[in-house]
Amino acid sequence: MSYKNFPMVPRVIFGRGSFNQINEVLAPKRLSINAPFIYFIDDVFKNNTWLLSRISLSYEDRIVFVSAKEEPKTSQVDQLVENIILESKALPSGIIGIGGGTLLDLAKAVSIMLTNEGEAKDYQGWDLVKNPAIYHVGIPTISGTGAEVSRTTVLTGPEKKLGINSDFTPFDQVILDSELTKDVPQNQWFYTGMDCYIHCIESLTGTYLNTFSETYGTMALDLCKEIFMEDNLSDEEMQEKLMMASWHGGMSIAYSQVGIAHAMSYGLSYLLGTKHGIGNCIVFDHLEDYYPEGVKLFKKMKAKHKIELPQGICADLSDKDFDTMINVAFSLEPLWENALGKSWKKTITRAKLKALYQKM
Ligand code: NAD
Ligand code: ZN
Repeated sequence: MSYKNFPMVPRVIFGRGSFNQINEVLAPKRLSINAPFIYFIDDVFKNNTWLLSRISLSYEDRIVFVSAKEEPKTSQVDQLVENIILESKALPSGIIGIGGGTLLDLAKAVSIMLTNEGEAKDYQGWDLVKNPAIYHVGIPTISGTGAEVSRTTVLTGPEKKLGINSDFTPFDQVILDSELTKDVPQNQWFYTGMDCYIHCIESLTGTYLNTFSETYGTMALDLCKEIFMEDNLSDEEMQEKLMMASWHGGMSIAYSQVGIAHAMSYGLSYLLGTKHGIGNCIVFDHLEDYYPEGVKLFKKMKAKHKIELPQGICADLSDKDFDTMINVAFSLEPLWENALGKSWKKTITRAKLKALYQKM
């Protein structure tokens, strides 16, 4: 099929306080008393009774706290799946991810790997998943990545950082409760929010652009401008708007692609473990030749919120290290083609990429 037949999240709840409905939403999905609901929750909420007290665990249900300090790995997914199989009498009724992109991606990947043989690394790529995943629910607690709406779960494997892109990846249910994002630290709010902004710029300036992507992208970009540049919004309004910007930004790239900032940020992440949001910011700051308008506004937003990005993160790298990052970045061919067109290989060279990395 030359036109993608794209699955979307079939059910979504939106509203402040809507997390209160979690038990009601899940109850009809329970398969048996032996089939638990398993909650993967960012360990930042470990002692947070405000959030945890609203989850009622029955039978074999359990909460697994996971740190978001590092981005998800294929080996981590395999381990989580193995633990579930060892500890449960039956396959789970559902997997619920509560957190940022890290936790949402882990929940998606675990729900896929519970019903598909082998290891998570075998499924990094496009449309390699054979069996439908376990029912899975995404509840974001920080906004920007669009992981709540996307058809991918981004994992770092032994050989590559690449998503499991499949029709079975999107959540069956999403709960968008902006109140859950109220305690996100300011820097992290900016980095993850900028992921959304960069999705919009890369999608809207890309050669893959079409009206489907453009409409979502424009909506998300307008919201980002309001959130990050204007002063008249209350905290609640900002949180609600960023939650929807993330959703629309995710929808925008679903039917197009991201671009150079993402390709290069994957290189940083693979070699140095730089996290997605901050990595995108570090790269995007140097891409004025490719996204002049987008970078100009980015710098204004950065100044307005007094964000100081790390400098010199590539200062001590060897030629071999640069090669590794360049290889990772160039392996993401659709991103370059989207950014620069079909003959992108004539426009961008390894030397140009190295010079850019050396500035970071
Ligand atoms: P994250 O999940 O890594 O979390 C960032 C930090 O914010 C963590 O320290 C976390 O503990 C903290 N945090 C989250 N919610 C909080 C809250 N309510 N209060 C206080 N602290 C909170 O951040 P992210 O930027 O959302 O996600 C990055 C990940 O998303 C990367 O692994 C990236 O690859 C992935 N990603 C996936 C997609 C996709 O479509 N699947 C798209 C973009 C990025
Ligand atoms: Zn992104």
